[in-house]
Amino acid sequence: MFAGRAWGCPKPQPGGAKFRFRKAGRTPRTPGRYHGCTAVLSTKHGKEVVIGPPLKALLGLAVQVPAGLDTDTLGTFTGEVERVGTPLEVAVRKARLGMDAAGLPLGLASEGSFGPDPRVPFVPLHHELLVFVDDRLQIQVVEQMMTNRTNYDHTTAASFADLAGFLDRAGFPSHAVVVRPNTGLETRLLHKGLRTVEALQAALRECASASRDGLARVETDMRAHMNPSRLAVIRRLAFRLGRRLLRCCPVCETPGWGVVDVIKGLPCEECGHPTGLVSELVEACPRCTHHVNRPRYDGRKTASAGNCPYCNP
Ligand SMILES: [Zn+2]
Ligand SMILES: [Zn+2]
Repeated sequence: MFAGRAWGCPKPQPGGAKFRFRKAGRTPRTPGRYHGCTAVLSTKHGKEVVIGPPLKALLGLAVQVPAGLDTDTLGTFTGEVERVGTPLEVAVRKARLGMDAAGLPLGLASEGSFGPDPRVPFVPLHHELLVFVDDRLQIQVVEQMMTNRTNYDHTTAASFADLAGFLDRAGFPSHAVVVRPNTGLETRLLHKGLRTVEALQAALRECASASRDGLARVETDMRAHMNPSRLAVIRRLAFRLGRRLLRCCPVCETPGWGVVDVIKGLPCEECGHPTGLVSELVEACPRCTHHVNRPRYDGRKTASAGNCPYCNP
């Protein structure tokens, strides 16, 4: 099935076929089918520094960033361009932007979303998704994670002195901030990527005086190159994606075998009633319909009574 030579990849070496027979669910130490290939990463925010090395080390896959690509046309965190569609749709569109620009069949893109955690009051939630698109195999392989370890936050301030606590929590100056007027229609005033006290003070003065209430709105800058916390999450996803692309479907041998869904209902240890906790993971092939339900990685068979809607209503 994979005998043909795909554009962007080296010619298969004799004997390469021996790597094709792998057991699903295990990460082999042999190079995968992407060894020597190049994938386009669509980013204008330096994500290649954390996505490139893991994929090179795990897969032998080179990552290339096309020059002059403007991914902001698909949406910005600061709202100048509204994001249309789900994060996955946006990530795939973004990957295709780069694939079209470079004329390569392999593409990568990540998409981050931030907001309040619906499960925990006053705690921010970061959802990050990394997608790999292979047009030769017609597959999309997705790794994603949710974490509360983000500095996502905003505040208002009349002067620099008002910001002491906020800047501490935001991780300034290693993490940049964004400043704009708190009210009014002056949308042209938007200072992004502020990483020095001087630049922040100047932006505060300008935006506070342009705002009807005399306040500037100060936000954490969530763009990857301005936010080391976010970069760390993308790096973890790159490792996960690399390991996933080494795992092949036991039926059709397509790379990218891994968890695509979870089944909830882990039984209560006291009464056996299904709880909201995950009981099984669904692993599937990105190409054919083959899938397998497997137990939780941690081996847990029951949930504590504290999670049970009957024992602990
Ligand atoms: Zn129970
Ligand atoms: Zn398959």
